[in-house]
Amino acid sequence: MPIRPENKHRYPADWQAIRVRILERAGYRCEHPGCQARHRQLGYWRDDKWVPLPRALRDAGVDKPTVIACADGSMLKVIRIVLTIAHLDHTPEHCDETNLRAWCQRHHLRYDARHHVATAWRTRHAAAGTGDLFGAEPSAHAGAHLGQTALGGQALLSGQSDRAGVDLGAA
Ligand SMILES: [Zn+2]
Repeated sequence: MPIRPENKHRYPADWQAIRVRILERAGYRCEHPGCQARHRQLGYWRDDKWVPLPRALRDAGVDKPTVIACADGSMLKVIRIVLTIAHLDHTPEHCDETNLRAWCQRHHLRYDARHHVATAWRTRHAAAGTGDLFGAEPSAHAGAHLGQTALGGQALLSGQSDRAGVDLGAA
């Protein structure tokens, strides 16, 4: 989840270098088992699997996050993957590489939600002042709805703002 302002001082001074090192270790792909979503890649989620933007959509001019109305009436939400660095133990000071994972929005949020239920309300209330962890993307509110719905699965991610880059699925 985004770095809360009150936690910013807990990150080491060389955090940006650490972040790049972990991204490079990951080959700029999400390290969640089976995900492999590539940093900055466009695509969409279908049945909880990442689908890189098909050639046909690229040829049709899709070159940024958007929502496409499909012929069957469903909506296809194209997002851009932004890898962020997670601390497995949720301790910003603990930057041993074994404690860090490069994860896409979906897998980072899911992990944090499962382990941060007790503090989810703080994230909601602090969302306005965050934004570091998700880089340049305007996705500071990614964690805003955590804890309001059932944890895990699609329900967790429903209701996320578009700016979070989290797909709602084509269903
Ligand atoms: Zn992922």
